[in-house]
Amino acid sequence: MCPFEYHRPKTVAKALELLDRGVPLAGGTELTPRRDQVPAVIDLQDLGLDTMESRDDVIAIGAAVKLQTMVENEEQLPSTLREACRSEASLNLRNMATLGGTVMSADGRSPVVTVLLAMDAIAILEPGSETLSLEELLDRRDRDDFHGLITEIRLKLPGFLRYEQVSRAPADRPLVCVAMARLPGDGTKKGYRVVLGGFGSSPIRIKKAETYLSEGEDINTAAEAARRAYATAGDVWASDEYRAHSASVLVRRLAMEITG
Ligand SMILES: Cc1cc2nc3c(=O)[nH]c(=O)nc-3n(C[C@H](O)[C@H](O)[C@H](O)COP(=O)(O)OP(=O)(O)OC[C@H]3O[C@@H](n4cnc5c(N)ncnc54)[C@H](O)[C@@H]3O)c2cc1C
Repeated sequence: MCPFEYHRPKTVAKALELLDRGVPLAGGTELTPRRDQVPAVIDLQDLGLDTMESRDDVIAIGAAVKLQTMVENEEQLPSTLREACRSEASLNLRNMATLGGTVMSADGRSPVVTVLLAMDAIAILEPGSETLSLEELLDRRDRDDFHGLITEIRLKLPGFLRYEQVSRAPADRPLVCVAMARLPGDGTKKGYRVVLGGFGSSPIRIKKAETYLSEGEDINTAAEAARRAYATAGDVWASDEYRAHSASVLVRRLAMEITG
């Protein structure tokens, strides 16, 4: 094993200074197995990022909140998000893995990121207290020059939120999953979010399906948009045909529920 530097700052400001030397260490479940590839780790556990607060209609979740803490928080979090946290990993991992670490390392098969994208979650990125949509963060995260610390994820409770997945076994990660939400809007137009996961580096929004649902609640065309989005999504886990068909079935099913 390669010796590396371990830092445990007491403030976010100090952690940001140290980021030039290494990478954030949260639960360590993804980082530890590749510890010989990083020169230094900046442990986040003393930064006070492990709290959850409701501020007006926004729920602010610290980046260091554990997935299992979210599973157990019936008071503040919707059951769909708590179930997605449960599906993300086994109990031992959930007791270590954090929300920030999950968002930063998840691939397209992540139930949590699929649901958070449907909820239009916002991430706070330091330095600069930048407010990024989760979509923007996932895009930036995958670039080589990404630098920074996620301190918080913010959510608003949608009017409707559902998640469904197809997997080899109920406790397995999804081959295909869909999260659908109706966001709190201005009252003149319904704002739907349709997110498809199970493949690739991140779950994806199906914007055409969102438009079809928002403008005319056209379920068949929305399902077809989902099928097309996964038309070439084949890998060792599932063929493209299987994924495309499952995507259209799940979108149709949730769209029927959401549109009543
Ligand atoms: C046995 C085992 C099975 C696993 N199975 C799966 C699986 O099925 N699916 C899956 O997706 N993952 C899996 N993982 C990986 C891992 O458990 C998850 O990705 C986990 O959610 C990562 O969270 P963490 O808090 O442990 O992150 P860490 O391991 O601490 O960090 C992960 C990455 O995120 C960065 N990071 C962490 N926090 C922040 C922050 N606040 N701001 C900026 N960057 C940050 C770190 O620098 C690192 O690059 C598995 C791991 C193990 C050990």
